[in-house]
Amino acid sequence: MTEASHFWIINVRIPNCFIDSSIRSPNLEINRSPTLERDRLFACHLEIRDGQITEILPSSKLSQIPTESLSIIDGKQGIMIPCFTDLHTHLDKGHIWERSPNLDGTFQGALNGIYADCTEQENWKYEDLYRRMEFGLKCSYAHGTRAIRTHLDCPPQQFDTTFKVFTELREKWQEKITMQAVSLVQLSYFEGVEGEKFADAIADIGGTMGGVAYMVPELDQHLDRIFTLATERNLNLEFHTDENDDPESRTLHHIAEAALRNNFSSQIVCGHCCSLAVQDEEVANQTIALVKKANIGIVSLPMCNLYLQDRVADRTPRWRGVTLLRELDAAGVSVTLASDNCRDSFYGFGDHDLLEVFSMGTKISHLDTPYDNWIESVTSRPAALMGLSDVGKIGIGETADLVLFKARSYSELLSRSQSDRTVFRNGMAIDTTLPDYAELDDLIG
Ligand SMILES: [Zn+2]
Repeated sequence: MTEASHFWIINVRIPNCFIDSSIRSPNLEINRSPTLERDRLFACHLEIRDGQITEILPSSKLSQIPTESLSIIDGKQGIMIPCFTDLHTHLDKGHIWERSPNLDGTFQGALNGIYADCTEQENWKYEDLYRRMEFGLKCSYAHGTRAIRTHLDCPPQQFDTTFKVFTELREKWQEKITMQAVSLVQLSYFEGVEGEKFADAIADIGGTMGGVAYMVPELDQHLDRIFTLATERNLNLEFHTDENDDPESRTLHHIAEAALRNNFSSQIVCGHCCSLAVQDEEVANQTIALVKKANIGIVSLPMCNLYLQDRVADRTPRWRGVTLLRELDAAGVSVTLASDNCRDSFYGFGDHDLLEVFSMGTKISHLDTPYDNWIESVTSRPAALMGLSDVGKIGIGETADLVLFKARSYSELLSRSQSDRTVFRNGMAIDTTLPDYAELDDLIG
């Protein structure tokens, strides 16, 4: 769109939550539009210089912009947000659907599909993993994603190859996407000398320790071990928790207790937390209070939950599968949304597009009444939980990593796919062409 290093993007609407109140308050008198009021959008103009945002002016101050000698992009009242951060993905599993589909759509079918593809058929060789993971990165980048955390399956025969591919891609893509990795194993994996070596291997790649928590008798013992190993290595933690509809499944509660018991000070993120939504209110509220106290961030995976939860053959699902997003948010917990799986046996669809995640999450969880600051759930909040202080922000001095939509309200934003969005990286509009599916034909068959 422009090659100029100094230009203005005029007539855009930015969600209030991204704009410093000192910039926003003079404009309050002017924001009389019902759409702006209801959607909490700030009408303004942005100056970009050498890839950075250097000025944000309220819409009323258009006449102050020196238009003669500068390039001007007219946003035509479109919504603008910071680039996305995808907190919870599985790039290593992605895009194997045609090779290893989930024919009954159940959680067990999903586990079987991955086991067959990774372990039985030994498909996850270097090239296979590299190209599938990079395909996911290409999609993410084109859709406007700036940072991604991926879980990595780590069966003993696999993790050397997987870690090698991850670190190579992280280096190759570092200018475009900040990548983080989390181990995905059973919690018992961290027991003994082998567990210590594995924790060292995670530390060596600058990863996050993680695994799937189940309600086994040894759960608290496993958690204490993991918190000790993580503390010794100064690592963050991320768990898959309670991805089921069993009210007795309370691993989130156990993790919060373990965090407090171990005085853990690094960041913890827990994903899914589906069963919280089927527990008695009092029981759920106790857990939510503990989660808040332990400063645990929550990531909900609404599309994957809708797909796998409450799936029984020949029966229509009654439950949407998501956790108590609103209640956690009301308690002051940082609640985020992310992609999770993409075109694999855990989720047969997806395209690494966080606008789709936000759109689906909003509709599944009724986040539209009001929209409030929920757009933060796919931008600034996940960036903060990943410790990325320079990502997910729109402010003077921040890098101009922005997504501009033609949609002028949330209703317009969440009604179309917005495939014609403009993604600015370092102030430059990038090519948003998606990779061709045929790129992977020789791998997937
Ligand atoms: Zn996951």
